[in-house]
Amino acid sequence: MSAEFTRINLLDLDETGLRAFFTSLGEKPYRAQQLLKWIYHHQVDEFEAMTDLGKELRAKLPLVAEIRPPEVLHRQVSDDGTVKWLLGLPGGNAVEMVFIPEPGRGTLCVSSQVGCALNCGFCSTGAQGFSRNLSTAEIIGQVWLAAKALGHERNGQRAITNVVMMGMGEPLLNYDAVLPALRLMRDDLGFGLAAKRVTVSTAGMVPGIAQLREDVDVALAVSLHAPDDKLRTELVPLNRKYPIKTLMQACRDYVAGRNKRSVTFEYTLMQDINDGPKHARMLVKLLRTVPSKLNLIPFNPYPGTRYRCSSPERIQAFQEIVMAGGLIATVRKTRGEDIDAACGQLVGKVRDRTRRSERLRAQAAEFQE
Ligand code: SAH
Repeated sequence: MSAEFTRINLLDLDETGLRAFFTSLGEKPYRAQQLLKWIYHHQVDEFEAMTDLGKELRAKLPLVAEIRPPEVLHRQVSDDGTVKWLLGLPGGNAVEMVFIPEPGRGTLCVSSQVGCALNCGFCSTGAQGFSRNLSTAEIIGQVWLAAKALGHERNGQRAITNVVMMGMGEPLLNYDAVLPALRLMRDDLGFGLAAKRVTVSTAGMVPGIAQLREDVDVALAVSLHAPDDKLRTELVPLNRKYPIKTLMQACRDYVAGRNKRSVTFEYTLMQDINDGPKHARMLVKLLRTVPSKLNLIPFNPYPGTRYRCSSPERIQAFQEIVMAGGLIATVRKTRGEDIDAACGQLVGKVRDRTRRSERLRAQAAEFQE
């Protein structure tokens, strides 16, 4: 077999993995630290440029290893400065990644899977079906690519100050690949982001939430979208398996003993579905029991959806009720809408293996006839 087939992608390894890798080569484990700095502090992907590694090692590394992020297929810039990349992956798949610049901060929204298996009815990623999990290299490679493209610093401040796992996919259903990527985002030798600046967003994978708390310190966001089980199961089918009560307990456990931490609950507002005063009041009761913030997301439409965005009046009324009830609630500003980069609009190119997209298309065609 040629070396081409056995080369290991070093973006797949966190510090522990890299130490083991260098040991297996008969090298000192501290090489891992040197390499991490080159990759993540300087976005260098050529071993030849890594001058402190020593000539011999620099010659040996390309034979056994590579540093290979996903391939940029397309890049779009929104009127509001939001940038969306389409990233190509082996096998004809592609995922999307979004950078959202704001005064004083820059948030990168990364994907964890090609498509999503969860099938939440209001999410365009869900409608694409599911192809496969991303590897660690494909996840951390997104941050790497963005850091390289945006420059590590802008006006003396880092370009990427926050990373949110809110792109395509359910991160806690791809735990083994996501965890090393999160460690690399947090690690001082990696991107060095503080715990509150790395957010994992989940549709409510309860076992994953518990595991995450054990393994790495990051912020947690939960896609709630409904205050009761009946409606939530309609919107987020995973709720059947992990109903609200179980989910709330997992959230309380996640922040327990962690000073000043809270869970962010995402709540997408859909006209006449989950945006009434009664829903707002129920939400207040529910979220009072968890240290939390509420992030209200105006629904972003996409072709074929039967949901509509709540009117500005309903959004405002909803926010007023929850705030009067004592919750901290913000309305997420929609960004990058003109380039379909807003929440729930990321589609990439999914070689659907669930045949869900095919079924949905057939249904839609029938509906139109
Ligand atoms: N699977 C994870 C990560 C995706 S995050 C999760 O569910 O949390 C993407 C966020 O956008 C989620 O809160 C999701 O529910 C929300 N969302 C999905 N479709 C949307 C749409 N069309 N409009 C607004 N928000 C949407």
